[in-house]
Amino acid sequence: MRQSADTEITDLFIIGGGINGCGIARDAAGRGLSVALAEMNDLASATSSASTKLFHGGLRYLEYFEFRLVREALIERETLLEAMPHISWPMRFILPYHQDMRFESDTPTSKLLSLFMPWMKGRRPAWLIRLGLFMYDHLGGRKILPGTVTLDLRGAKEGAPLQDRFAKAYEYSDCWIEDSRLVVLNARDAEARGAHIMTQTQVLSATSENGIWRIETRNTENHDMQTFYARMLVNAGGPWVGDIIQSKVRLNSRETVRLVRGSHIVTRKLYDHDKCYFFQGTDGRIIFAIPYETDFTLIGTTDAEHYDPSVKPVCTPEEQDYLLGFANQYFKQELTRDDVVWTYSGVRPLYDDGASSATAATRDYTLKVDTSAGAPVLNIFGGKITTYRRLAESAMEKISGHLHLTKGKWTAGVPLPGGNFPVNGVDQLVADLQSRFPFLGDFWARRLVRAYGTEAVDILGDAKQATDLGQEFGATLTESEIRWLMTHEYARTAEDVIWRRNKLGLRLTKEQSQALDDWMAQRRHSKPAMAE
Ligand SMILES: Cc1cc2nc3c(=O)[nH]c(=O)nc-3n(C[C@H](O)[C@H](O)[C@H](O)COP(=O)(O)OP(=O)(O)OC[C@H]3O[C@@H](n4cnc5c(N)ncnc54)[C@H](O)[C@@H]3O)c2cc1C
Repeated sequence: MRQSADTEITDLFIIGGGINGCGIARDAAGRGLSVALAEMNDLASATSSASTKLFHGGLRYLEYFEFRLVREALIERETLLEAMPHISWPMRFILPYHQDMRFESDTPTSKLLSLFMPWMKGRRPAWLIRLGLFMYDHLGGRKILPGTVTLDLRGAKEGAPLQDRFAKAYEYSDCWIEDSRLVVLNARDAEARGAHIMTQTQVLSATSENGIWRIETRNTENHDMQTFYARMLVNAGGPWVGDIIQSKVRLNSRETVRLVRGSHIVTRKLYDHDKCYFFQGTDGRIIFAIPYETDFTLIGTTDAEHYDPSVKPVCTPEEQDYLLGFANQYFKQELTRDDVVWTYSGVRPLYDDGASSATAATRDYTLKVDTSAGAPVLNIFGGKITTYRRLAESAMEKISGHLHLTKGKWTAGVPLPGGNFPVNGVDQLVADLQSRFPFLGDFWARRLVRAYGTEAVDILGDAKQATDLGQEFGATLTESEIRWLMTHEYARTAEDVIWRRNKLGLRLTKEQSQALDDWMAQRRHSKPAMAE
């Protein structure tokens, strides 16, 4: 085990390579701070690859009167969309109406309604849903996304997969986001602006010595230890935020995190259009059914208490049955466990606001600077993928009380790598790519544009035919692309590639994934996979 020390003092040391850590790293590096970020596994290996993947205002949070959060998130959808039109795109959501759909009983709205309209017995009246959608349309200054319309489901393609009892629906807008790619692109942009991004690097301890943090890390692959010094620490540990406070930085803090697990199931494609469904349950909860990766449907999520961040979240058989049962209240086709081709699960690191249920706990974020150790640490609680950029801006405000920033807010609308093209420009990019590289089929070309945007051409280089891109590992994944991912996007293993840089894990066989992993292991050991 080698012991090395980096005696240089960094301005900001960030613990955690999820969306919040990487978003803060990017913003801070762009404002002239020296930044180091340590992630103990792969980037986005925890919550930030396990979301429902929506840039959304959060329609249901209106029932909790979370107007600040909803407004900020609604405005943010379009700001983000413009900066990353490859990995984010507008989606239409169908909300079928049926009078049996109920509120969760402890929302402020349901309490008010049971006072003034007790005969509704917890049911959501249609006018209230319409009012919520009216606010959703108007709270957030929409410019790109179309507003709400009422739909007659009878005879419509949107009604075709649904049971006949659903005759009416509302259709509204939100956006899709490739969550784990968002994290990697933020990390890359941070690095391009001077940040030092380290994966497989676990922070073991941070102690303050004369107002400077001394941070001990261990490489989780080769067990090398390293020491870093920093003026300020950011704890963006997601589900581990409490663990970092208590056992790594050892603060005497009263702030606590509430861990709420959310699981998703994936089935083969359940219907033939590109819109999503927003289903309300009789238990007051809601779930989404979303077209996923061309040939699949994504269904989620659950809300279950999770007590220990070191216990890997999995979608339990009970959660699978719950989601299948929920969807079966809507779809004509009866779904069973046999229809489930993949599941994933993540833990929401929510600020503990003392709410009674996991569903009711606030999704807003809370940032707290603690100076009790003698040097400042910023602890991050809660947050959404949707609000990560705004969270980073708020973090910079807190940081500015301790470090000198050379620049003000700058990230709004600034493209992430590959995102420098118009919001409606994907079809054109796909056509351009296919005319320059005629061997690319539709699936392949679109997949590359959706992942890499204007950088797709760099991966293909001078290739004249598919074989010029080296070995093919299955489902259009070639050696050239893997080399790019290892060199530029911190990928080390097959899992990093097929579940976080893309979702080709849904298509590759076990043997193909193993061959990819072996190939990557050989390259990794001959040359370290550092971003260039
Ligand atoms: C089921 C579900 C659905 C969701 N859906 C949406 C949605 O549709 N839209 C939306 O906007 N938001 C959604 N969210 C919320 C969103 O995913 C989270 O708020 C966000 O991903 C949290 O990011 P984070 O960076 O705080 O945490 P994480 O992504 O968990 O990152 C924290 C990182 O810290 C690292 N770490 C911890 N301890 C150490 C250490 N000692 N040393 C080094 N590294 C360490 C971990 O390995 C981890 O990678 C959803 C969340 C869940 C669970």
